[in-house]
Amino acid sequence: MKNSADVAMAEPGTYGRSSLVHVDCRVHELLLRQRRQERTMLKLIASENFASSAVLEATGSIFANKYAEGYPGARYYAGNEIVDELETLAIERLKALFGSEHANVQPYSGSPANQAVYRALLSPRDKVMGLPLPEGGHLTHGWSVNFSGTDYQRVPYGLHDKTQQIDYDRLRETARRERPKLIWVGGTSYPRVFDYAAMAEIALEANSYLVADIAHISGLIVAGAHPNPVAHCDVVTSTSHKSIRGPRGGFILSRNEDRYQPLYHPKSKHNLAKRIDRAVFPLLQGGPHMNTIAALAVALQEAANPSFRVYGQQIVNNAKALAGALLERGYKLVTGGTDNHMLILDLRNRPLSGKAYAERLSRAGIIANFNMVPGDRRHPALTSGIRLGTPAVTSMGMRETEMVQIAAFIDSVCRQPDDQEVHASVRREVADFCTAFDVPGITDR
Ligand SMILES: *Cc1c(COP(=O)(O)O)cnc(C)c1O
Repeated sequence: MKNSADVAMAEPGTYGRSSLVHVDCRVHELLLRQRRQERTMLKLIASENFASSAVLEATGSIFANKYAEGYPGARYYAGNEIVDELETLAIERLKALFGSEHANVQPYSGSPANQAVYRALLSPRDKVMGLPLPEGGHLTHGWSVNFSGTDYQRVPYGLHDKTQQIDYDRLRETARRERPKLIWVGGTSYPRVFDYAAMAEIALEANSYLVADIAHISGLIVAGAHPNPVAHCDVVTSTSHKSIRGPRGGFILSRNEDRYQPLYHPKSKHNLAKRIDRAVFPLLQGGPHMNTIAALAVALQEAANPSFRVYGQQIVNNAKALAGALLERGYKLVTGGTDNHMLILDLRNRPLSGKAYAERLSRAGIIANFNMVPGDRRHPALTSGIRLGTPAVTSMGMRETEMVQIAAFIDSVCRQPDDQEVHASVRREVADFCTAFDVPGITDR
């Protein structure tokens, strides 16, 4: 006699009929725990967000099963008529939102998108200028342990000692002298607006490609809460899961024509757009993740809605309110404040490291990451900073008043870093505070 479990095992295809809770109770339990945590804690990681239920639904859809190596209309697999339409839809929405000539939606994430740019524009050992990691740049902009630092010549540019903002005058001098083939503009912990027009002038003087990495701020740009670099840059790269609230992934925008083709790529028969596409596939990747591309299309539809402008502006208003409340309580912030969605607490004159404060905050239900600050003397695994971001709490519907309360929570913990009772009581208050808000993708189902 077979029992029903044996039958389920024996007949191919029957797995697909059971939901996660029946198939794998361990993963299901972990998922429930993660949901409970995210529902009762304050997510202040500047790079994280809550994607909508619609975006999550598309991410978990059967588009995940489809192989579609190639590009719309030119695939290496059959049966791609529908996903051709899907990818074209995502591309068209992206081009319209950012005003770019070309878009590639296949990069698996932000770092692979940047890698494709190196491969499309440069040869190994070419010179690349970027903001170093400790000063707010990204790993892929020329950090020593990343491919960008090992395979290319790094020419760092830096911050002004006083303002802690990019020193455009020194950058110009360095670019004139070094003549890098590529200059990155963008960062992962830089709380101010980038001057794309100034960067474009500098790049032009030095015959450099200018590439903006808008991984953190793409949502703000779509919302009109940060300048759009597209008109100033040869290429623009981004993730799709940060402020723009899409699925885990990346994309690349570019001009069609390469203004330096005769100088740097005289033998290539492909224009810039085509070289970007060929760098993504087949040079670096295989089949695109069609479920991610579906979810990106959904996120772009959401971002095109006028309410997204309100959302993006609120992210910035919230960051400014949080910054103001912390400054009032005597905290120091890198650059003295913020223009975007993030702020960086400068804890150099405090007894504990950024890591130690982040651990204590997390016990109190406040999730943030430790981060280097300019002039940091502590080890990168300890640091003297805490980076805070407002995209996720803004997605929950929080506004300026809530930011003042969050600053009070943070201050309670940091003023009494060794008092476990304080941490536990703030933890309870935070959980209570969160119940008043919907968490997209969790409590709105
Ligand atoms: C997050 C980020 C990336 C990398 O994205 P991943 O998806 O983590 O690979 C690249 N550049 C910048 C500026 C980022 O902030």
